[in-house]
Amino acid sequence: MGFEYLGLSEQLLAAIKDAGYTEPTPIQAKAIPAVLQGRDILGIAQTGTGKTASFTLPLIDILSEGRARARMPRTLILEPTRELAAQVAESFEKYGKNSKLTMALLIGGVAFAEQEKLLDRGVDVLIATPGRLLDHLDRGRVMLTGTEILVVDEADRMLDMGFIPDVEKICKLMPPRLQSLFFSATMPKEVKRLTDQFLKDPKEITVSSPKSTATTITQKIVRVAADDKTKRAALRYLIQTNDVKNGIIFCNRKSDVKVVAKSLAVHGFSVAEIHGDLPQETRTQTLAKYKAGEIQLLVASDVAARGLDVSDITHVFNYDIPSNPEDYIHRIGRTGRAGKEGWSFSLTTPRDKKYLDALLKMLGKDIPEEKLEGFEAPASRDRKSSRKPRQKDDGRQSKAPAGREENKAPSRESSPRKDRPPREKEPADRGKPVVGMGDHVPAFLLRDAK
Ligand code: AMP
Repeated sequence: MGFEYLGLSEQLLAAIKDAGYTEPTPIQAKAIPAVLQGRDILGIAQTGTGKTASFTLPLIDILSEGRARARMPRTLILEPTRELAAQVAESFEKYGKNSKLTMALLIGGVAFAEQEKLLDRGVDVLIATPGRLLDHLDRGRVMLTGTEILVVDEADRMLDMGFIPDVEKICKLMPPRLQSLFFSATMPKEVKRLTDQFLKDPKEITVSSPKSTATTITQKIVRVAADDKTKRAALRYLIQTNDVKNGIIFCNRKSDVKVVAKSLAVHGFSVAEIHGDLPQETRTQTLAKYKAGEIQLLVASDVAARGLDVSDITHVFNYDIPSNPEDYIHRIGRTGRAGKEGWSFSLTTPRDKKYLDALLKMLGKDIPEEKLEGFEAPASRDRKSSRKPRQKDDGRQSKAPAGREENKAPSRESSPRKDRPPREKEPADRGKPVVGMGDHVPAFLLRDAK
């Protein structure tokens, strides 16, 4: 079934065609007509399913039918991270190019003044992270009483990041006549409580994860010696011997993100790093270059890469097995999108055994091994190295509570060891000084949708 049966306008159909999409994804086919009918939606779907367009497309049509320029925002979209917020803005730009809608992004890392200038001019669509929106509300610079449609995206990630109380506060500020669309990959009880409270007779749409289509991603584990030099050499070898158009290398620790990126650059690879210590401006610019194909490899931490929407990443490399098995799914899900083929290679050392076991248990199956001769640890050396107290280097012997390695282990370069270093959390923007974005705010973050 094509897009033309979903009730969208001719103008929008033309924009969809220009974007190169011929068929709606399952969530689009189910959600778009229901949103156009004014129904509340509970979409149980994750990134990669086409869920963003499942709400941006009907919203563009609904908003275009109303008055051309709103004084108060008519639609509010809440996103857990700045990157996801920016992607939704891009989606509005792409499909809304034939409409006259205006939008503003309220995310951390961008000066309040810039955002307020846009708000003062009046916007149809407000895309915000919860903390920054509440800051604007506190400053009295945004009114939500004209909101007609609320979208809460990635509700389970909001929960992971501790934003549910903020989301709840915002939901309570909404006017009574409201159409609400909630999206979440999973339904933990805290999210269920929220949807039970705020959704009115929602149409429930569950779509299976595109990541379960194991056929599109070829996964391999690569057993290597535990020392970092060997791991980096093995990584280079894998990149050189595979047809890597573009790839992401995930590291558990920020300190490794920096070291691995630097090492690859020294060896002549086209590479950039992305992690929570970098200013938002740098992260946005790096992502834009990577998306444009100007950078071949991105070395990333889990949080920084969340929701990253680049549709044709060919390879994902795990420099470490993630300590949280679910991160593995998020990581490898960056490749093999939209039916394209993808590959993932996960380095594993004898010291990772605990994490590998947990991962295989979660997957309920083995990951085939790619043998890399010359990089494997001789059994005796491994045994010796696994006995060595390596606490300082990798934190894995630590008795700290289970959690993300990135949050658990200190950065060797930048933070002194603490028992509980702060989580890399974003947008940690409430009350934080604004990172100097100056004149370098990417155009799409500030521009009105044409
Ligand atoms: P999302 O789940 O919204 O993050 O979208 C995942 C990817 O699928 C994005 O790269 C979209 O550009 C792409 N996409 C969205 N809708 C379609 C469609 N109908 N056909 C092909 N690709 C799509």
